[in-house]
Amino acid sequence: MADKELRRREPGGEVGAHGTAADYEPLIAERGPIARALAPVAGFGVTIGNMFKPTVTEEYPFEKTPTKPRYHGRHQLNRYPDGLEKCIGCELCAWACPADAIYVEGADNTPDGQFSPGERYGRVYQINYLRCIFCGLCIEACPTRALTMTNEYELAGPTRAGMIFEKQDLLAPLADGMLPAPHPMVPGTEDTDYYRGAVTGPVPEQIDWVAQYRPEEPALEQLRVPADSGRDEDGR
Ligand code: SF4
Ligand code: SF4
Repeated sequence: MADKELRRREPGGEVGAHGTAADYEPLIAERGPIARALAPVAGFGVTIGNMFKPTVTEEYPFEKTPTKPRYHGRHQLNRYPDGLEKCIGCELCAWACPADAIYVEGADNTPDGQFSPGERYGRVYQINYLRCIFCGLCIEACPTRALTMTNEYELAGPTRAGMIFEKQDLLAPLADGMLPAPHPMVPGTEDTDYYRGAVTGPVPEQIDWVAQYRPEEPALEQLRVPADSGRDEDGR
């Protein structure tokens, strides 16, 4: 077979002759007779060697391997122990995102609609998982630790629209004893008390408020104290 002419791109963009394959033959190390004899079957050595090694195939999705504890998975919007949302709608996470994957619209809390401690809450919160690169810069930027990342990595979906997660998809599930927002803050507290961890759960005033304005709220079932609780046999 005729030697192919090797060409290279010269400075300035011109393609010029650089020699033939025969010119490079002297540069290739000479093989010994054993190496030459085994060369045609050398590839089988890799195959046969692997036949006696332990199988490392992961049976995903039937068997899921736990991630490392600090794995960057799906985001979560956290709540305070009384159920108010930690997000204050400041948009710092959206500004920090290098992939422009977060969209936030803040709104004012009102006496009838208090979703988070303080003046503002995140009315609209979206993360586009077609853009997110899971870098974690957004959670570093969040001033209230409202935004964190879970270990969940199964984020495939059949539609593009379905990969845009809305606030209700990202909110942390209600833990036992939490009362979902909106409801007033714990009486006598300010937002800084929430930041310091002084609020440990809903108080009767908050439970009564929800019972008055959202009597159908399912979380009330476990929070309502039975009328006869704590009373002795005589009803005292
Ligand atoms: S993890 Fe990175 S890319 Fe994903 S939303 Fe946060 S800042 Fe943006
Ligand atoms: S998640 Fe954090 S940074 Fe993003 S809008 Fe809410 S409070 Fe601000």
